[in-house]
Amino acid sequence: MTQLLTIAVDGPVGAGKSTVSDEVAARLGILHLDTGAMYRAAGLAVSRRKIGRDDEAAVTAAVAEADISVRYENGRQITLLDGEDVSTAIRTQEAGAMASAVSRFPGVRRQMVFLQQQMAKTTPMLLDGRDIGTVVLKDAPVKIYLTAAPEARAMRRLRQLEEKGEKADFAAILAEVNARDRQDMNREIDPLRQAEDAVLVDSSEMDFEQMVEAILRIVEEKTGVKARKGVRA
Ligand code: C5P
Repeated sequence: MTQLLTIAVDGPVGAGKSTVSDEVAARLGILHLDTGAMYRAAGLAVSRRKIGRDDEAAVTAAVAEADISVRYENGRQITLLDGEDVSTAIRTQEAGAMASAVSRFPGVRRQMVFLQQQMAKTTPMLLDGRDIGTVVLKDAPVKIYLTAAPEARAMRRLRQLEEKGEKADFAAILAEVNARDRQDMNREIDPLRQAEDAVLVDSSEMDFEQMVEAILRIVEEKTGVKARKGVRA
């Protein structure tokens, strides 16, 4: 039996995981599952139900009750909460902080991990997140740990916000990046860490194309699968 092409990409906030993963998956002709979007949808479900983020039992129950799912349109991920497309609503700083808060709880993680494993079971996919190589897909044939210095990550975020015409302050963004790192790396359950068999890619000095090519090279070395430019699943 040939092994399904499954790629695990983990790393801290702002390392470029999401956009780089999107491009890598497109060039390989496979789907990209942004698992952070699912935790963001879980966070939004909790905010909408007006539950305190520290109330573990209520948060876990709210996420169990919420219907979080993903579908693809022309190869692009659409994230749904209770049937509503929340792909844009989950992109705020606040939704990111809420996602980080609710993802501390084991009951929430178990639900998300189960959904992610179901999706990756039958379809060739690239999953990006924090625990893909260590928990969700322990047997993935390709594991990447994509990171960059906090300052480089904060600078990228600043540029993204500025491009969208939003006002942003570097010091505040850097503080947010460091706070999220602390929360993601120090939580008790499935903290962010590099899997032993993951390949480290430090993107501090790389531009977008260099990151994409670095990952594609690793995929080819590990599996023999080559990318074709401009292909989308
Ligand atoms: O990747 P993104 O910043 O959208 O993720 C939002 C938050 O969701 C992260 O800060 C992290 O706390 C959580 N998350 C997680 N496990 C994943 C993906 C995201 O705990 N696999």
